[in-house]
Amino acid sequence: MNFDSYADLGVAAAAELVNHLTGGWAQGALRRLPQSGSQRARLAAATEAAIWGRGSVLGGAEAEELIHLAERLRLVFASLSAGDADGTAQLVNSLLRDYRAAPQLATHDGEPWHLHFHSQDREAGRVEARGATCAVALATVIGSGWASRLGSCAAERCDLVFVDTSRNGSRRFCSLRCLNRDKVARFRSRHPEGGAAELHQPAPTLPH
Ligand SMILES: [Zn+2]
Ligand SMILES: [Zn+2]
Repeated sequence: MNFDSYADLGVAAAAELVNHLTGGWAQGALRRLPQSGSQRARLAAATEAAIWGRGSVLGGAEAEELIHLAERLRLVFASLSAGDADGTAQLVNSLLRDYRAAPQLATHDGEPWHLHFHSQDREAGRVEARGATCAVALATVIGSGWASRLGSCAAERCDLVFVDTSRNGSRRFCSLRCLNRDKVARFRSRHPEGGAAELHQPAPTLPH
């Protein structure tokens, strides 16, 4: 499915930030963010580079700002999964304000005019720009009736989030791994005495 391409990229980035820069359960394993400042900075820089494809180094303060942004984005997904439309709108609106979202056409590095989401002030920092991009994308997707596409994994012991781009919007799990974990858990709860042999069916595939 396609939202606008910029919204696609922005909501995908938001999900990646949540999944990599906040603690919680990830596919059955508890994951905590590192404590040490240098490890946190490395993790934040690697995540930023993976999403936006830049190899540049984030300063320590910027790394913590990016982690803070990820925590705020996590709240948006949590609010959506709790079905709290009003609370979600307030969270997104405060992101738009706090990250000074201000759509502007920009041209640089020989590129054609394209949309930027953040203030073009020189003093706008990189994390502020990232926050504005994510906030505008979330606002666009939610405001266009696609809130249900911003999902949280339904498997036990998994807090990962995803953007559901399936045709019918029926995705419930972050991954095939969690879909299978959920299947096994359901089977075990129905058959507490065992009988795993019956589980050997072809692996289901995720819609995409
Ligand atoms: Zn640009
Ligand atoms: Zn999951």
